Amino acid sequence: MRNKKIKKLVIGTNNKGKLREIRDLLPKNIKIQSASDFKLKSPIENGKTFEANSLIKSKYFSKKTNLICLADDSGLEIDILNKKPGIYSSRWGGRDSDFNKAIKKVYSELNKKDKFWKNKKIKARFICVLSISYLNKKIACVKGKIEGKISNEPRGKNGFGYDPIFVPLNMNKTFGEMKASQKFKLDHRYKAFVKIKKFF
Ligand code: IMP
Repeated sequence: MRNKKIKKLVIGTNNKGKLREIRDLLPKNIKIQSASDFKLKSPIENGKTFEANSLIKSKYFSKKTNLICLADDSGLEIDILNKKPGIYSSRWGGRDSDFNKAIKKVYSELNKKDKFWKNKKIKARFICVLSISYLNKKIACVKGKIEGKISNEPRGKNGFGYDPIFVPLNMNKTFGEMKASQKFKLDHRYKAFVKIKKFF
């Protein structure tokens, strides 16, 4: 177990939305660089779980930069779609990760599954696995999740990804309608971060 606090790291993502949210979680005195500062493309995510893919990223970016890396693998699980898109959440947006395309695919899969889905509560959750690695060594790997449902149509322009179609449990607004400061203290990424904050 490390007892030295991490003062410098690379965040292992090229996703701007994630980068912003992870940056906001970290203490301000940490020197942060991102994968794009090093012009590094993301590795192929061929793991079968969020944990495996998160570790693929944190080890890969650490080895490429020689810095400790904090990486995130996350996604949306929809129960009646057998937990899809899950680890394929980013890939549902196609080659250029077009979130509008990914959202359209969710609605078309729901229509195929059940024409009356809009009259039902479509249970879903966001999952985030944060991992910290140094070179090939795992330092930590933790999971956070938030339960909720899919809205009948996209609402709100804030956030990124599937935010406009996800309504957290016991709330009315989608993540897309919330301010960043409201989503921040509630979501899967924050819940995972709480479990590793002792490293920072
Ligand atoms: P990956 O972890 O890079 O494979 O991509 C995760 C994908 O899940 C993102 O591209 C988004 O589509 C989706 N996702 C993960 N976290 C969030 C979130 O907080 N809001 C909305 N979409 C998210």
